[in-house]
Amino acid sequence: MRASRFFISTLKEAPSDAEIVSHKLMMRAGMIKRLGSGIYTYMPMGLKVIRKVEAIIREEMNKSGAIELLMPLVQPAELWQETGRWDKMGPELMRVKDRHGREFAIQPTSEEVITDVVRSEIKSYKQLPLNFYHIQTKFRDERRPRFGLMRGREFTMKDAYSFDRDLEGMQKSYQIMFDAYVKIFTRFGLKFRAVAADNGAIGGTGSHEFHVIASTGEDALVYCPTSDYAANIEAAEALATGTRAAPAAALEKTSTPKAQKCEDVAKLLKIDLSRTVKTIALTVEQEGKKQYFMLLLRGDHELNEIKVGKVPGLAQHRFSTEEEIQEVYGCVPGYLGPIGTKAPVTVVADRTVALMSDFVTGANEADYHYTGANWGRDVAEPAIVADLRNVVEGDASPDGKGVLAIERGIEVGHVFQLGTAYSQSMNATFLDEQGKSAPLQMGCYGIGVTRILGAAIEQNFDDKGIIWPTALAPFELVLCPMGYDRSDMVKEETDKLYAAAEAAGIDVIVDDRGLRPGAMFADWELIGVPHRVVIGERGLKEGNLEYQGRRDAEATAVPVADIINFIK
Ligand code: ATP
Ligand code: MG
Ligand code: MG
Ligand code: MG
Repeated sequence: MRASRFFISTLKEAPSDAEIVSHKLMMRAGMIKRLGSGIYTYMPMGLKVIRKVEAIIREEMNKSGAIELLMPLVQPAELWQETGRWDKMGPELMRVKDRHGREFAIQPTSEEVITDVVRSEIKSYKQLPLNFYHIQTKFRDERRPRFGLMRGREFTMKDAYSFDRDLEGMQKSYQIMFDAYVKIFTRFGLKFRAVAADNGAIGGTGSHEFHVIASTGEDALVYCPTSDYAANIEAAEALATGTRAAPAAALEKTSTPKAQKCEDVAKLLKIDLSRTVKTIALTVEQEGKKQYFMLLLRGDHELNEIKVGKVPGLAQHRFSTEEEIQEVYGCVPGYLGPIGTKAPVTVVADRTVALMSDFVTGANEADYHYTGANWGRDVAEPAIVADLRNVVEGDASPDGKGVLAIERGIEVGHVFQLGTAYSQSMNATFLDEQGKSAPLQMGCYGIGVTRILGAAIEQNFDDKGIIWPTALAPFELVLCPMGYDRSDMVKEETDKLYAAAEAAGIDVIVDDRGLRPGAMFADWELIGVPHRVVIGERGLKEGNLEYQGRRDAEATAVPVADIINFIK
């Protein structure tokens, strides 16, 4: 590829709606372009990465024995009514009507359609097991689309569906998919972890999530460094609650409003502040009366500014940066209000924040607050406060083989043992050896193709830009000739090297745009190409090229004859 014939469009500054690093860098590197909330055009540079992700997935899926097909985006409502998901899915399911007034869903996944295919195609146990997959556009009308491709409304997913005659077969198919996922994420070159995602006991679990490890991830992962135990926080919590006596919430007179420090408030409320949580106490003064808020922040992110909306009896307040609050990030809208009330609030900063008012809701009497409030039981939106759980670092691992550690991850894949839920409601059966009809055992397996891009960047970047693992990079190697149009020597050597790289199967681009070296290098560092070779007259006279890996602090002189081997 020649840069002059490709489309490169880089920006010095990210648009202001880009909140996290991957979103900012993808916008700046010209990989995506926003069309609407959660809807993006994949620009040529971004699409190159998406195609690489897809190719690796496709190869490993095919190797695992899964068979590719392609199911429609627009799916009749009747199918979705058969399983009840038409009603169950609520507003996240995008619904459209055709000119005859018939209703359709735009697929968020395709269990219904694949089950419909299989119920008409599969007659006998002899045709089993089967695993169908496709890589297709999805639409989910997310409550809060954000972070670019990370939580889009329109996005690409690889979804696979296995069909077996019995439970044992289904578990085998599940294991095959699990192993394929390990191969896929390993080939991506990303640090990842598979975690149990349901509440089952250790070992026998019906669902796992695959997470790319990144400190900015939305999910908390609990694992034991000295054993195989790993679960998402919800699953870990489900195991833990059985073993811990949760104190009953009680309405008690406390001196909370006098407590200025959040630590004091936390102590009074007996809140277990784990290390993943930051707290901020705020005081609002109105008509000489002080009101107190406590914010619990998730993860490493910090709050910058909070605007309180119209709180009855309370003027518009604006909280600005406290000393310890530095970074600006997006925040899940929540409720902020005087203790015991719920008032709308716009939070301009990080993910939520559980507000004291949330877990003391109901304690609306002056000087009265709940003590012993328990997550999940007393908190209205446990999903938002997933970090504030009953499992903390240093707890004993449920397998008794060590202590727990917590890290953050981005959910990029999910495998699930479905059993017969769909096949029963849709009457998808087969005939066994005895000629008896039985429902098919199913599994489903998703990978967030486009989310992988965001996750890879959250894990691999520096102040210059993206650092792609080679397997995902839009180009593996960029050739930067110094004076391509001015120096015959440079041009000749560049063209030769370009041909040699192509012959060696390296995805190479020549920057023949005639930019100044500084601007040229900055572009490729931002875009994140792993290998760069500079071809200049001075070096060539000594028989050398200048090589610099994306993570290298400086360039190395490499003899012309050795360069391809050096990169490979
Ligand atoms: P999340 O918890 O992030 O909302 P999910 O559990 O709803 O994801 P699944 O139904 O398990 O998602 O879908 C399979 C995969 O699709 C997820 O593991 C994720 O990688 C990807 N995915 C889900 N929702 C989105 C989205 N809005 N944008 C991009 N990728 C997504
Ligand atoms: Mg979701
Ligand atoms: Mg999830
Ligand atoms: Mg999931």
